[in-house]
Amino acid sequence: MAKVLLLFCDGIGLGMDEAASNPFAKFRSPYLPFYQNGYDTSLPHDGILIPTAADMGMPGLPQSATGQTALFCGVASAQMVGRHISGFPSPSLRKIIDAHSIFRKLRDKGRTATFANALSQDYFERLGERISATARAQRAGGFAPRMLDDLHRFNAVSHDFTNSFLRKRGYNVPQFTIAQSAEILARIVDEVDFCLFEFILSDQAGHKQDFEVALGLIDNLQNFLAQLLPQLDLQQTTVILSSDHGNMEDLSVKTHTRNFVPTCIWGRNHHQAASQIAAIEQITPTILKLLD
Ligand SMILES: [Zn+2]
Repeated sequence: MAKVLLLFCDGIGLGMDEAASNPFAKFRSPYLPFYQNGYDTSLPHDGILIPTAADMGMPGLPQSATGQTALFCGVASAQMVGRHISGFPSPSLRKIIDAHSIFRKLRDKGRTATFANALSQDYFERLGERISATARAQRAGGFAPRMLDDLHRFNAVSHDFTNSFLRKRGYNVPQFTIAQSAEILARIVDEVDFCLFEFILSDQAGHKQDFEVALGLIDNLQNFLAQLLPQLDLQQTTVILSSDHGNMEDLSVKTHTRNFVPTCIWGRNHHQAASQIAAIEQITPTILKLLD
């Protein structure tokens, strides 16, 4: 049975090959060669990298709410609402997510889907209708969210791989290693048809223009991929890593960028999938085809 894992990484574009401004050019990870001329080669585990437009044909800097809606719904959301919208989904974007979320489309086809990240009860109570595009997309499919208790049961992961972020905020959750998170995510992928994982620290490092933090994140992300990919059955699973807009690949500015974003694809039918993706709003339709 075909499976898809979507690794959503916030705020990662394809930048210049300049070690002073692009931490990916400085680090030169074979998994994340997100600098000019670095993405012509194949990725470890026979992956391919497709430069992907994130602007939806609209002027201005691409933003998170519209970009994530495009990624998780397969629609040119910025065109639909007339501009790029930052932060969490606006009321108009919430309507689009509720109607077009990939989770909802999969539910309608009788397939199973999950968002692997653990969320706290406080998160839902504090934000109400203002939850993230990822959490809302999952809710639109009627699938139950994974909560902090699931971390104790090794049945969910955190966006930082280690749960340090939650522990620093005073939540009683276990500390994970990156290897443990990779193992847990591989098991979750095995249990469903479609799994979404969200990595958000890259956008924050980009806004802070923090080069050292950015290098650490690249190291963590490549370690995670190196541990995760061998544990997946890539004969039946397609893994897609993509982003909503550029940011961390150019630390000379604290804003997002209009750069293409990387879409990295591994596993089942990866060449065929790659041929269908030129813009972020084409990722959901491609996932649906892979799962048909
Ligand atoms: Zn941002």
